[in-house]
Amino acid sequence: MVERNSSDGDRPDEFALIEELFAPLAAGASGAYGLEDDVATYAPSPGQELVLTADAIVEGVHFLATDSADLVARKLLRVNLSDLAAKGARPVGYLLTAAFPRTMDYAVMRAFARGLAEDQRRFGIHLWGGDTVATPGPATYSLTAIGEVPQGCAIRRGGAGEGDDIYVTGTIGDGALGLLAAQDLLPGLDSDLNAALASRYRLPEPRMALGLALRDLATAGLDISDGLAADLGHLCRVSGVGARIELEAVPLSPGIRAAIALDPAHFERALTGGDDYELLFTAARVDRTRIEGAALNCGLAVTRIGVASGEGLVFVDGSGAEVSFAHAGYTHF
Ligand code: ADP
Ligand code: MG
Repeated sequence: MVERNSSDGDRPDEFALIEELFAPLAAGASGAYGLEDDVATYAPSPGQELVLTADAIVEGVHFLATDSADLVARKLLRVNLSDLAAKGARPVGYLLTAAFPRTMDYAVMRAFARGLAEDQRRFGIHLWGGDTVATPGPATYSLTAIGEVPQGCAIRRGGAGEGDDIYVTGTIGDGALGLLAAQDLLPGLDSDLNAALASRYRLPEPRMALGLALRDLATAGLDISDGLAADLGHLCRVSGVGARIELEAVPLSPGIRAAIALDPAHFERALTGGDDYELLFTAARVDRTRIEGAALNCGLAVTRIGVASGEGLVFVDGSGAEVSFAHAGYTHF
């Protein structure tokens, strides 16, 4: 560290920030020691193993400087929880590294912490620790979520077998078109539908309850962050299977349907865009009724969109004709 930033304006220094913003978020976790130690400790419940995941977000890449900081924080937490859900894990805590721009208003940092507080309550978890630094660059946040599953029971990407059914939760494409909606780039779309799409982009819903229910049912699974087509490709590659997807079966929200009616190119965007945070999973054919039951219990739509078969990914339209996409999904580099 080159120099210690003393309090400038109404902004506390690093240690006051930790005490004021973050320590209250750790109050419910005894192993976080009020964020007054170097580390946190955690003893997993007997027979459980830890499930660990990290995601980072950067201003200008994953969110805009003008986005409200509480929503940015909640989305950061939720995208990590979505990974735990996809593995059938129960979330228990998280670590946070916050690189705040030197010029950031303290009010924005407070809003960020407020967002975390709200979703911590909602998902029953606590902050265990992290790091706080100042950056000359854009705001950057990295969150590590920790969950538990019975040993050896995490849902993996690699378990899909030939003939397994392929399912998705919720509706597909709301994240990708929600980004356009949030930027007012869907001219002609009804304003209520536009708002609904934008809010799906800003605040995804991690499918925690269904993830837990799928632990004994899914043969493979992941959450859709890079787009349905790309993430299906990931699952199939690791599982060593192909897939045949009936495009007419892919569930679409009213907003997506309306956007497609305005411009058919949005269909491909919906299937290949990112940020859905729905679960994509496979299960044996004999478990269809149990999958339906789990969906019903969770009050969540679960739709069978195809079957694991053959080699490579095949998307077919209503007439059985093969459809191909120009770009499978989002990549950073
Ligand atoms: P060290 O210098 O030993 O790495 P720090 O001064 O960075 O420790 O952090 C002190 C304590 O505050 C630690 O318990 C750390 O986990 C916690 N902490 C720091 N920043 C954050 C943050 N952004 N979120 C949660 N805990 C934090
Ligand atoms: Mg430090």
